[in-house]
Amino acid sequence: MNAGIEALLARLGAKREEMLERAGQCQTATELVVWAERFNVKLTQEEAGELLQFAHGSEDELPDSELGRVSGGTAFGKPPMCPKCRKLSPYGSSTCQHCGEPL
Ligand SMILES: [Zn+2]
Repeated sequence: MNAGIEALLARLGAKREEMLERAGQCQTATELVVWAERFNVKLTQEEAGELLQFAHGSEDELPDSELGRVSGGTAFGKPPMCPKCRKLSPYGSSTCQHCGEPL
């Protein structure tokens, strides 16, 4: 057990059992932070993350930032295709890389 989680559990005091149980049911640190606020417990994202990891008893959970990156990556769809020469240009291009046609 690392020093961070130990200090955090000490700070939670009587609520620790409840918090750990809940942490085991939460999928994200944000979810746990929101839930803790209802019990007048202030958690940072880092603290909630540690608690989550501790409660789940594994280190292979993806952190929020990682999940955001993965789901964000699939939301982009296809790169822009030129209406004139029908070739693909890189993401975010405003004109065709091949013939200069506005996209
Ligand atoms: Zn083109």
